[in-house]
Amino acid sequence: MSRFFSGRYLSLEPYTPGEQPKDRRFIKLNTNESPFPPAENGAGAIAAEYEKLMLYPDPTASGLKELFAEVYQTETKNIAFSNGSDDLLNFSFMAFCDDETGAAFPDITYGFYKVFAELNHIDHMEIPLKEDLTLDPDDYKKLGRTCFIANPNAPTGIALTPRRIEELVKADPDHVVIVDEAYVDFGAESCIPLTKKYDNILVIGTFSKSRSFAGARFGYAVGNEELIKDLNTLIYSTNPYNVNRLTMAAAAAVLKDGEYTRANCRKVMENRAFTVSELRRLGFTVTESLANFVFARSPEISGEDLYLKLKERGILVRHFSAERIKDYNRITIGSMEDMQALIAAVSRILSEEK
Ligand code: PMP
Repeated sequence: MSRFFSGRYLSLEPYTPGEQPKDRRFIKLNTNESPFPPAENGAGAIAAEYEKLMLYPDPTASGLKELFAEVYQTETKNIAFSNGSDDLLNFSFMAFCDDETGAAFPDITYGFYKVFAELNHIDHMEIPLKEDLTLDPDDYKKLGRTCFIANPNAPTGIALTPRRIEELVKADPDHVVIVDEAYVDFGAESCIPLTKKYDNILVIGTFSKSRSFAGARFGYAVGNEELIKDLNTLIYSTNPYNVNRLTMAAAAAVLKDGEYTRANCRKVMENRAFTVSELRRLGFTVTESLANFVFARSPEISGEDLYLKLKERGILVRHFSAERIKDYNRITIGSMEDMQALIAAVSRILSEEK
């Protein structure tokens, strides 16, 4: 750190993204990316947009919002876009928390929530998940805080039904519930319909996973018009052009090919079912994941050992050192070939342990 670094951030511990090694080719099952390329029609859309790059993008993204509203069954006034959903999560901490209203989220969840809370100097409470790593919305009902719920949760993949989330939204109408649906397309149910009924729920999502857009950076928020206006106040106070022209053009193209996304999600779900049953056959405990990853632990090998041994064999998974989950690894669902290679490697590692 330089001697000029602001005293306001001295204790900030930045988020650590999953490793992206360049030294050799790995089967990458560590950052929940899609194993499939994005829909083909986006390439032409990007090429056509290239010659307009001297012009700023439309900060209102009006055309894209119309298309998005149709696909996601909402209205343009209820939508905000950003350069990845992390941005919108950060803006939500800024917009809906302050010195009086703190934040609450589970002890085991997306690690960025804590970083955003600390970045914005927001008091935050970590609510322990149950012993079986499920989340009980009752734990949040009387907190009087802005709640951040990843649904499905990360890294467990366990999802709540919209009905359970509705109970929480209803129980505390004076605080906003932010539902992070990064992984919703792999079998869980979206809470977007609830945004029409309640003014205190904001749904945040991303094209990074199911739409294979991690490299394009595109996130969305859907909520009551007033919540969206608040987000826009922050977006327009930071970077009104936060979605670039190429991404906007590609996002529109990808939205038009919904069947491609649905087919990819079906493949991921099939590969997930295969992976879960194979891991269980090998003696692993695996959570009931509805995301594009599974979360698994073996009684025969520590989480860290398995992670390191898989890495030696050219397979990257994600290991977290937090006490409650250090026995687990989070394994992204890749192609069937990737998952077969993973199972073969795990099987060999376990037999070497014996
Ligand atoms: N929410 C959750 C739960 C995530 O795991 C991720 C991906 N790391 C994000 C949000 C952010 O996704 P992106 O910024 O790529 O849209």
